[in-house]
Amino acid sequence: MVAVAALVLGVSAVSAADLSPRAISAALDAAYDKYRGLQEGKNADYIPALAKVDPAIYGIALVTADGKVYTKGDVASEVSIQSISKVFTMAKVIEEQGPDAIAANMGVDATGQVFNSIVAIEQYKGAEMNAMVNPGAITATGMVAGGSRAEIWNKILSYYSDFAGRKLEVDQEVFESEAATNQRNQAIGRLMYAYGRIKDNPDRATDIYTEQCSVSVNARDLATMAATLANGGRNPVTGKQVLNSAYVPNVLAVMATAGLYDDSGKWLYQTGLPAKSGVGGGIIAVSPGRFGIAVISPPLDAAGNSVRAQKAIADISNALGGNPYTVTARK
Ligand code: GLU
Repeated sequence: MVAVAALVLGVSAVSAADLSPRAISAALDAAYDKYRGLQEGKNADYIPALAKVDPAIYGIALVTADGKVYTKGDVASEVSIQSISKVFTMAKVIEEQGPDAIAANMGVDATGQVFNSIVAIEQYKGAEMNAMVNPGAITATGMVAGGSRAEIWNKILSYYSDFAGRKLEVDQEVFESEAATNQRNQAIGRLMYAYGRIKDNPDRATDIYTEQCSVSVNARDLATMAATLANGGRNPVTGKQVLNSAYVPNVLAVMATAGLYDDSGKWLYQTGLPAKSGVGGGIIAVSPGRFGIAVISPPLDAAGNSVRAQKAIADISNALGGNPYTVTARK
C-alpha cells in the first residue's frame, strides 16, 4: 500500500533505514562488543593533558531525529570536545552573518594539508580553506560578534549547551595545558590577521578557540549535538530550534568536506555521513533526517581520528541504513 502511494505520487524510493528500537539497540551492542578489545591507536599527546586521559573510555550514543536516546558503554566519562567544537562555532557565525560570510572569508574547500598547516594559509593568503582546519576555525571564532571576551565566550558556550541540551563546562586542566603549549595556533591566528581574515585581536581569537576546544562532553552530549543537525537544527530532545534549518546544509557540507582531517574523503566514501572528529577521541556523525551518533574512545590513528569511533560509527550506520547517498533504484 505504501509502495503504491509512493508510485502514484512519483516519489522515488530512498533506502529504507531501519530505525526500530530493536535494530538500533542491536547495532549499538554489536559494534560495542566487536571493538571493545581493539588495542590500536594512541591518545593525542601534543596537548599534555590529553595523554593522561584513560584510553579505555569507550562510549556510544545515538539520538534519533525524533529524540529517542540510545546508549552503550561508558557515557558517564567526559573528554574535551576539541575540534568537534569547530562545527558549532562555524554554525554560530553562519547564523549571525549568513553562509556567504564563511565562504568568502576562509572558504569551504579542502586544503589537502594537515589541520594546522601554515603552508595552507600561505598558499591562498588565508582563503581557499574551511572552518574545520585550525586557521579557518580560529578565524571563525574571531568572527563571533561581541563587545568583550566574556560576552563572546558566553555566547559560544551557551550555543554549544543548546545543541547538547544541558549546560556544558570547560575542563580547566585541558584548557590550561593547551593554552601553555599552543604557540603554533597563536602563529596561525596572527597570520590570519596579517591576511585580513581575522579583523582584530588575533590572540583573543586563539585564546577563545582554545577554550572552546576544552569544553567537556560525554558521548550522549555529542550525539545530541549531532542529532540537532540531523533534525534541521532543532534539538530533538529539548525541542529548541538552535540553528536556522536553512543553514544546516551549509554546516553539513563543510563537515563532509573536511570533518576527518586528511581521511575525510575515505570516511565519506565508506559511510556517506557528514562527521567531525576531535583529538580528544570523540567523533560525531549525522544521518540527515534520521539520527546523530557519537562515539568517544581516545586512542587515535595516524590521521588523528579515533580508531574505535570510526569503526563503530561506520558499522552502526551501515547496519541501520544511515548513508544518505544510498537510494534504491526505481523499478
Ligand atoms: N585544540 C586542538 C588544536 O587546535 C584541536 C585539534 C583537533 O581536535 O583536531 O590543536
